[in-house]
Amino acid sequence: MTSILPSSFSSAETMPDAAPRPVSLRIRDRLDAADVPYLANDNIADHLLDGELDQLEIEVAGKVRELLRSLVIDIDNDHNTEETAERVARMYLHEVFKGRYHEQPKIASFPNVKKLDEIYTVGPITVRSACSHHLVPILGNCWIGIKPGSRVIGLSKFTRVADWVFSRPHIQEEAVMILADEIERLCEPQGLAILVKAQHYCMKWRGVKEPQTSMVNSVVRGDFRRDPSLKAEFFELVKQQTALLTT
Ligand SMILES: [Zn+2]
Repeated sequence: MTSILPSSFSSAETMPDAAPRPVSLRIRDRLDAADVPYLANDNIADHLLDGELDQLEIEVAGKVRELLRSLVIDIDNDHNTEETAERVARMYLHEVFKGRYHEQPKIASFPNVKKLDEIYTVGPITVRSACSHHLVPILGNCWIGIKPGSRVIGLSKFTRVADWVFSRPHIQEEAVMILADEIERLCEPQGLAILVKAQHYCMKWRGVKEPQTSMVNSVVRGDFRRDPSLKAEFFELVKQQTALLTT
């Protein structure tokens, strides 16, 4: 696989006799040089060159293999864990953390020609993430309230963008803020409200081992923030949508 390297790359990277540097190091150097953050819940897709994701998958699998060896698991003889490293690398890069490495799904927005301005809510949308602290699952539901602005997007698109944003290591508070930023960017609503209720396996599976606790948080922007009755209407609509689930 060939990659086209920008001419600004240091000569050390392209010197034929230089030892090959791990692809993750090349990517991190590039991000540092461009002053681009790459925190656990940042997306870096725009900064990956052709073929680098495949190289990264190979590098990550190698590191997971070493992790398993450090955990004193005999991966050479254990038929169950023989290919675990490759599976975990694929899962991280293309499934559970795909929101870091893959571009946002294409989402078309349309002009709000009918000047719709009544609020609506979409939910529950299933969200799946992992905590940044332990990399164990966060699973929950999300409700999105919109007071349309200049542009509109299809209902299913909220699911796609939520899945993309949540598929990164997160803390729930930041996940909701990032999702709000993306939705504002996509359809410029007059008002936006998001509510997330999620269970954290950090608390269920380990630590305090509290199986029923969930975390609920919300963000309200624009008219939902300015107008308390609109905000109350959002929470009332969510309550109705929740009630529908149990009937
Ligand atoms: Zn945790």
